[in-house]
Amino acid sequence: MNTYPDNNFAQRTVLTIYSHADDEVLPAAGTLTLMSKAGWNVRCLILTDGSLSSSSVKGTRHQEAEAAGKIIGATYDFYAFEECNFSTQAVIKVTEEAIKLYQPDLIITHAPQPEKYGHRDHEVCAIAVSNVATRKNIPLWYSAPPVFLRGFEPNFFVDITSVIEEKIAAIGCYESEQSKAFMQLDAILVLSRFWARELGQKDGYFEAFEISRQCVDASYFTALSNSKKLVLN
Ligand SMILES: [Zn+2]
Repeated sequence: MNTYPDNNFAQRTVLTIYSHADDEVLPAAGTLTLMSKAGWNVRCLILTDGSLSSSSVKGTRHQEAEAAGKIIGATYDFYAFEECNFSTQAVIKVTEEAIKLYQPDLIITHAPQPEKYGHRDHEVCAIAVSNVATRKNIPLWYSAPPVFLRGFEPNFFVDITSVIEEKIAAIGCYESEQSKAFMQLDAILVLSRFWARELGQKDGYFEAFEISRQCVDASYFTALSNSKKLVLN
C-alpha cells in the first residue's frame, strides 16, 4: 500500500491526470514546482490534445505544456481523446495503465462537481480517476476548479509564495489560452490570495486542495516520536 507522508526518502512520484493541457498549472503549478524541487518525480497526464479547443490548433498545446513542464519540473504524457466525447471507462483504462507504469505515491486530479457547474470533461475525468485511486488505495487530492468553486471543499493548503513566479511563468506558456477569463494574471493572483485569506494569512500566495484519500503509515509516528526524543535530549 502506498503511504504519504512517511520517513522513507526514496524518490516519490506524483501523477496528475487532467482533461486539458493548462488544467494542471492553474490550480497546482506552485505545488508541483515545490514537489519537483524536493526531488519528486512529477508526471502530468493530459487526456485530450486540444484539437477541438476554440483557441488552439492541434499540437500547439503539446508544445505549450512541454514548455510549462520545463519550468515546474514535470514530464508530460498526452492522450488524444476527443474533447467532450470520451467515456469514464476509457479514462479508467488510461489511469490504470499510468498507475502500472509510474507507481504513483499520490494522484492529483479535478475536483468532482455536478455537471451543471463543472466542465463535462473535468467531471468524467474526476469520477474515473477517483474510482481507480480508491480501488487501488492510492492517496488522492482534488485541485480547485478554474471557475465555479461550488462543491469544492478545500482542506489542505500549500504556501506557494516562494514559487509564485514559476507559477505565473508556467501559466504564461499557454499562449493559445490567454484570452480566457480564468487565465488572466489578476484572476490567478486574486484566487491565490483568497486561499491565503481563508487561512487567516495577510500575505502570501496559496494553492488549495481537497484531500479525498490519505494514508499515514505507523512508521511516520515512530519517526515523529523519535525526533521529539532527540529534541528533549
Ligand atoms: Zn479543462
